[in-house]
Amino acid sequence: MMTTTTTITQALKMHFGFDNFRSKIQEDVVKAVVKGDKDVFVCMPTGAGKSLCYQLPAVLAPGIALVISPLIALIQDQVDHLKSLNIPACSINSKLPAGERRLIFADLGSSSPKLKLLYITPEMVASPSFKPCLTDLCTRGLLSYLVVDEAHCVSQWGHDFRPDYLKLGKLRARMPGVPCLALTATAPKNVQEDIVLSLTLRTPLSFITPVFRSNLHYDVIFREMLPNPFVHLHAFIQQSLALDSGSKGQGCGIVYCRTRDSCESVAHQLTKLGVSAKPYHAGLKTGDRTESQNEWMQGKVLVIVATISFGMGVDKANVRFVAHWNLAKSLASYYQESGRAGRDGLPSSCRIYYSAKDKEQLNFLIRKEISRKQGKRGSLKETDKATITDFDAMVAYCVQEACRHTTISKFFGNKTPNCAGACDFCRNPKLVRAQLEKGSSLSTK
Ligand code: ADP
Ligand code: MG
Ligand code: ZN
Repeated sequence: MMTTTTTITQALKMHFGFDNFRSKIQEDVVKAVVKGDKDVFVCMPTGAGKSLCYQLPAVLAPGIALVISPLIALIQDQVDHLKSLNIPACSINSKLPAGERRLIFADLGSSSPKLKLLYITPEMVASPSFKPCLTDLCTRGLLSYLVVDEAHCVSQWGHDFRPDYLKLGKLRARMPGVPCLALTATAPKNVQEDIVLSLTLRTPLSFITPVFRSNLHYDVIFREMLPNPFVHLHAFIQQSLALDSGSKGQGCGIVYCRTRDSCESVAHQLTKLGVSAKPYHAGLKTGDRTESQNEWMQGKVLVIVATISFGMGVDKANVRFVAHWNLAKSLASYYQESGRAGRDGLPSSCRIYYSAKDKEQLNFLIRKEISRKQGKRGSLKETDKATITDFDAMVAYCVQEACRHTTISKFFGNKTPNCAGACDFCRNPKLVRAQLEKGSSLSTK
């Protein structure tokens, strides 16, 4: 039976109460999943509405969708939400009371189960109590989809690796003919490739939200070559906030530093130069930290000088610049941190003040941390290699002679974007080259 677009839109309204899809990409994913002839890979940012991409098709399809999700708490939220929408969903987990468990197994064993979505954690997949049940559902052809949410957990390159996710390849093999849908929010290219391999997705249809944001202007300045880095930073801030043009635009900015000390000293220097700036780091009393954040949120302080602990869940639209006084620990983190600029779509600047000395320090810290862990464990794990590779990608970004947007897009497995002068290299490759040459002559002296 063909499921028409009208049927899908009606189901969206009827079961979920939405008049429209959130985005074209959400609509395309749902249609591809409903079609059901191919495996599907989805990479969309948090909050983009990935759950609906399998929940709606699960409601429309005959049978039960098996959904793998890493945490009982996440599963519980989803199940409660679905129940409130009158969609038959449940989860089998270690915390389930025996009575409920019996009811669920009874439904699953019946000739036409009512359940539409069955959530389980990956450790449950291989449990002796669940295995026969799954085999039975398979042989009776009652499974509509295999859904793997937070699919990056399968990759040792990811920062959220869960060994239990590796069992999912085997699970997949036991469900031939059932289309598989893998979803994640954060996946550099190597993680994406891991997901496809581990879950043996067969030439999947990929839906990836492009990371390219044309309003962000990226550049890199070699800090050690500046006569006075603070004056340079100050000028950058003036320009980004258009302070000298006299416009009292309500913009603000973030300077990221690695250490508490540098947060303090940069904030102090900027204040001396006449920009209202406040530090934010874990060494401050909670009250002072909250005050810094509130004043920045309200626009009383223009610049917050912070360690990376700042920014989680902060959603301010008019951040005109994000400057990194120190390197981020990976290109993925850098993309995320710098991406706090320009949420309102207006032109904004993302700058790294690169320093070779700083790079060496961070390199040393990263390796020290790894060998500390190794000391406990004895061998270099894949995740440790990933940490180093991710950092190398960050450094390469700084010392390259190429479009910065392109590097970021490629890193996330996207096509080459049309930068159109939104990075220093595309705007003036000669300047970038000159800086590199001068930088390398400095370091060899
Ligand atoms: P993700 O898993 O991508 O982080 P979720 O699936 O949790 O995102 O969805 C985020 C929010 O978006 C939820 O509150 C969800 O109800 C809402 N949402 C999803 N699809 C739509 C839609 N088509 N219209 C309006 N809201 C939607
Ligand atoms: Mg989600
Ligand atoms: Zn470019």
